Amino acid sequence: MARPIHLPDSKLPHVGTTIFTEMSALAAECGALNLSQGFPDFDPPMALRQAVTAAMNEGKNQYAPMAGDVGLRTWIAEDTEHRTQRHYDVNSEITVGAGASSLLFAAIQAWVHPGDEVIVLAPAYDLYQPAIQLAGGSLVVVPLGGTDYHLDLEAIASALTASTRMLILNVPNNPTGSGWSYEDFEALHRLVQDTDIILLSDEVYGPLQHDGRTALSLSSHPALSQRALVAASFGKILHATGWKIGYLLGPSELMSEVRKVHQYDVFSTGAPLQAGIASFLKSPEGKDHLGGLPAFYQGKRDRLLSGLNGSHWNWTPAESGYFQVLDYGRFDDRDDRQVVQEWCRKGAQDGVALIPLSPFYPNGIPEGHSTHRIRVCFAKNEATLDEGIRRLLLLSNPS
Ligand code: PMP
Repeated sequence: MARPIHLPDSKLPHVGTTIFTEMSALAAECGALNLSQGFPDFDPPMALRQAVTAAMNEGKNQYAPMAGDVGLRTWIAEDTEHRTQRHYDVNSEITVGAGASSLLFAAIQAWVHPGDEVIVLAPAYDLYQPAIQLAGGSLVVVPLGGTDYHLDLEAIASALTASTRMLILNVPNNPTGSGWSYEDFEALHRLVQDTDIILLSDEVYGPLQHDGRTALSLSSHPALSQRALVAASFGKILHATGWKIGYLLGPSELMSEVRKVHQYDVFSTGAPLQAGIASFLKSPEGKDHLGGLPAFYQGKRDRLLSGLNGSHWNWTPAESGYFQVLDYGRFDDRDDRQVVQEWCRKGAQDGVALIPLSPFYPNGIPEGHSTHRIRVCFAKNEATLDEGIRRLLLLSNPS
């Protein structure tokens, strides 16, 4: 008999299946309407799909350059400079990867050393914590402040130590959609200017702004951008999350180390996708698509919220992104993980899959914050949204 293999301890003993995978699987099992995981239920623009098909037919089927398709990086440089006035060098300061995820992960592996502290703001997207742990760093969780989830600079200041290597910011925030102001930048600048802290700014929802807000990127702050790596995702802005194409911006001395990880992890990604995205974004259809994004998603947020108006659900309208946090504390006082399971199990007729907020808090929901909140993804077509509203109303007003 072969000797059984004795495996070493897990490097990530506390990591299980993510709540997003869990809820999507439960939705499929129960036949519930899936408003949980963050992806659109509509396709990318036709002109984009045609551009990608054309790129394949034109032979763009072998490895793209490690840093990304040159045409795409050129578009990224021009677009970023137009939006933020920050010039990034096409050759050394822009890297395209397998979604923003791969580059956020690479940035953490490249710059976090064993024993370093990394500050993460909660509620937090789930990628950062295991990436920090694999790098040997320690996670320091600082909650966003108040019911509007604002950047709490005093709390961040009191979490800083001589071991703080990195501060991870996710603005607009997933799940809350909260943003920041230029004053926040100034305050952040005062906080870090005499330190060597690297900023990792996850801005994948940046272009999806509501109520006339303008997207504020850390790239637009001349001093902060010198110490910042800024992540963005084409999945979010092109309705193409499954394509997994994202990019990272940053000064060459920060970027060169990230590329060392990227080179041996992803190396390069979807050549025809990158080429097709570049040609689409430079076309009139591409410009119209990007210009129309804020109104497109605000329309969906407003449709959802006006449908819930007058019900027992409670909320602050999301400032940006395609998620809305809803509070059910007025009609149910049970634990958020428990209620979402039960609501999903109502099945094909009335079931709805949602994401509880507690998994976004690695150290638990802080004192004084509501524990009765769920996240709805409103990147859905009108029929799905209307059906979602019907089911959400049924939960708040059972007949
Ligand atoms: N950051 C945040 C906050 C996200 O919500 C997501 C996607 N869910 C990502 C990063 C990953 O983006 P991508 O799909 O481009 O890897």
